[in-house]
Amino acid sequence: ISIIEEFGEMALGASRPAGLGDLCTVFMESDLNAFQQKGVEKENLVGGLAYSIVHNYIQKVVRKKRIGNHILFQGGVTNNRAVVAAFEKVTGKKIHIPPHFDVTGAIGAAILAREYVKENQLQTRFKGFDISKVPYTVDKFTCKSCSNQCEIRRVRIEGEKKPLFYGGRCEKWEMDDRKGKGAGIPNYFEERLGMLMEGYSPEIDPSRKTVGIPRGLMVFYQQFPYWSTFFKELGFNVMVSEETNNQTIRKSLSMIVAETCFPVEVMHGHTYELLESQSDFVFTPFIINSRKTDDNPTSNCNCPWIQTFPFMVRASLPEERREKLLTPTLNFRYYGKVVEKEMVDYFGKKFGFTRKRINAAMALADERQTRFEERVRQRGREVMAGLPEDREVLAIIGRPYNTGDPALNLSMVEKLINQDVLPIPMDYLPLENEHITRDYNKMYWPNGQKILAAARIIARDERLHAVYMGNFRCGPDSFLAHFFHEEMAGKPYMEIEIDEHSADAGMITRYEAFLDSLKGSRLKKDREKKVYTPGAMVSSPMKDRVLYFPYMNDASYVIAAVCRSFGIHSESLPVQTQVDLDLARKYTSARECFPMIATTGSFLKKLMEPGVDPAKVSFFMPDHNGPCRFGQYNRFQRV
Ligand code: SF4
Ligand code: SF4
Repeated sequence: ISIIEEFGEMALGASRPAGLGDLCTVFMESDLNAFQQKGVEKENLVGGLAYSIVHNYIQKVVRKKRIGNHILFQGGVTNNRAVVAAFEKVTGKKIHIPPHFDVTGAIGAAILAREYVKENQLQTRFKGFDISKVPYTVDKFTCKSCSNQCEIRRVRIEGEKKPLFYGGRCEKWEMDDRKGKGAGIPNYFEERLGMLMEGYSPEIDPSRKTVGIPRGLMVFYQQFPYWSTFFKELGFNVMVSEETNNQTIRKSLSMIVAETCFPVEVMHGHTYELLESQSDFVFTPFIINSRKTDDNPTSNCNCPWIQTFPFMVRASLPEERREKLLTPTLNFRYYGKVVEKEMVDYFGKKFGFTRKRINAAMALADERQTRFEERVRQRGREVMAGLPEDREVLAIIGRPYNTGDPALNLSMVEKLINQDVLPIPMDYLPLENEHITRDYNKMYWPNGQKILAAARIIARDERLHAVYMGNFRCGPDSFLAHFFHEEMAGKPYMEIEIDEHSADAGMITRYEAFLDSLKGSRLKKDREKKVYTPGAMVSSPMKDRVLYFPYMNDASYVIAAVCRSFGIHSESLPVQTQVDLDLARKYTSARECFPMIATTGSFLKKLMEPGVDPAKVSFFMPDHNGPCRFGQYNRFQRV
């Protein structure tokens, strides 16, 4: 159906619009398919979409803000009469549409640009209103300068000497006036990569077997010194897959058997590339948890998708290729005897190495890894001690496998350097000094601990701002984003999510907009930090309270009854309804898992019931120690 001509008409003919919720319509394909398979008519599907646009806007943009009585609706969507009608129906108020509604935003931007040009005595590049009448042509070609092979569009405008280009992943075809900006700004991400790969040589000795290490996730971006040394010491060649490129991404998407996050998806393509190359084996370890400092009480477990990527990759391969994967089960949190046993059990059995030889390889690997980590910290101290005062410094927050891979972050670092700002890697910050698990004793994801420690440093360091880079479908980030926001205590930062569908177009504009917004933020120095700390709540005695269990299954009724038999006044909350979910969605981002949204809604609804005194209420939400998100529910709900 044509969006412009048919959508509105058809939606207004809906008798029972489908209940499609408040997800962004871009992500609604599977819901639409499900309704269609149940026989819901086109009119009702389209009508449901009109409502979901409205619900999404109200839940995600308006959120807790008050909706006034004089409402203007502007922008291109206003053309869709069904969406206007849905807004009126949902708000119960008249929606006014101003003249020139489809260009009011552009007019505002033009006024701001004119003021900016005047204030800064710049030369305008405005081409005049007749530009639309100037003939132009658009064609496309494939850039062959690297393996990405981007499709570049070329716009030739009559009378202009140079064409415009867009569509590349890098800056090669960018506008001339952006080129050369940022000259002399160091690229600390390349520097970190150099330290990570120090001593690695791609030379292959044909008399030895070769182990391939996929260039992704923590196995490469955080632990490469360890694994490359370990395999070298055992007498293998080590081969790393190529940098992620468009082919890796395309191949990965053709292989995946389950939808995961982007970094896990690309591990498929990297593994495939190594299997196709001279590698005899590909190292895809099942690393359950990570090493920890003595004062860290958590299980320090990796996210479920880091843990299980080897099994997803395995499932995507034909039977005969699976034999080539090396997948030991490793509990790095218990480094020492436990990991020694795991390594000996696996590599001893598979290749016949003695315990002594494996232990010797582990010892050297450990030494190289420790040296790498210490060098990163040392470089970080040097960089932090000499931060420039005349330039914006942005700490790039995120996992090293995202922030260190230009294909996964759409060349974020290069783009920022071209904006004349200095990006620095998260692990150049003195994260270890924050002892973050003292306040987050159930932040069991190691990279989550680092992200929160970084937030704390950036929030109080006037020289720093943050770009928080994550991925759609990242489970840990759906919670960390809330905690990060809280830690930043009002200091502005940019949050960016990238996946395989993310396009380069517009990224530079977003960075420019963020940097522009920082100019104003410098004036606000009176930020107030309000971070929830466990144990800091004042509570009335339990005997005066009713303990409510959220409905998660019928066991909630049983547990409440058991508590009552012990003299605790307790009840199970009812099964969640749309009311609970709508309430919860005002406080959540829709990225959290559903049980968390449902239980949050139950609690909120109870608290909002007339006559309920919050001081007389307790809610039951258990803790646990990872790796899934459940252990974060209680902290989020308290916040
Ligand atoms: S932490 Fe997030 S981005 Fe990393 S593997 Fe897990 S889900 Fe993916
Ligand atoms: S709490 Fe449940 S739904 Fe949420 S991540 Fe864990 S297993 Fe998945």
